[in-house]
Amino acid sequence: MKILVRFYEELNDYLPPDSRRQDLVRDVEPGTMVIQLIESFKVPEASVDLALVNGTPADFSRALVEGDRLSVYPVFESFDIARTTPLPGRPLRSPRFVAADHLGKLAKYLRMLGFDTLYIKGGDGLLFAGSRKAGRTILSRSARLMQNHRLTHAYRVRNEIPDRQLLEVVRRFDLSEQIRPLSRCLRCNALLEPIERPEIRDQVNLKIFHQHKVFYACPHCRRIYWNGSHAARMVDWIKGQVFLQE
Ligand SMILES: [Zn+2]
Repeated sequence: MKILVRFYEELNDYLPPDSRRQDLVRDVEPGTMVIQLIESFKVPEASVDLALVNGTPADFSRALVEGDRLSVYPVFESFDIARTTPLPGRPLRSPRFVAADHLGKLAKYLRMLGFDTLYIKGGDGLLFAGSRKAGRTILSRSARLMQNHRLTHAYRVRNEIPDRQLLEVVRRFDLSEQIRPLSRCLRCNALLEPIERPEIRDQVNLKIFHQHKVFYACPHCRRIYWNGSHAARMVDWIKGQVFLQE
């Protein structure tokens, strides 16, 4: 039976040049599942977030029938997914990340903007945290890791410089409206809590104490936060960049 298939955005990188960005006709056995057809093009499951069959979100295990039209979108391709019903178990609006060990600075920057980001050293922990059950999106620069079929949510970071990586992730996952500075501990990822000024009088230097009215504390490590210049500059920079064309 014949199925019409089209891959979108960077998923085309997996296809031979003469098959990219166009409708492709595949002749497959009856009962072929969505994921089997996708993988027959050597496109890894971890790179795919959304499959539409005849315009409707479809589970990867759905069996295709003659004449179906399959559209395949990469992980968190924002323009379409935000307006389409997400697949079960695929939270889209509050993305949670787990950064590979070579992306420590990116993890810290994401926390600086308020995004839930674990930072994990070592392959197995990373794979578990990025599993469908844990529901975190793995961020890594490793192309080899992206080929791992146990991954269900993963994004390969292209840029090498941390602040460019941050911008790349904010754009890719369409996070600019969800930036919440000073909401998360940079050291342990916990949500910060407001704290009364008298309580922290001995914990910050006098100049900072008098310059700032509002302070926050991490419930885990007790680190104190305030609206300091570094975080504020980073947020301004991101907001300025995010709306510029690449
Ligand atoms: Zn902390």
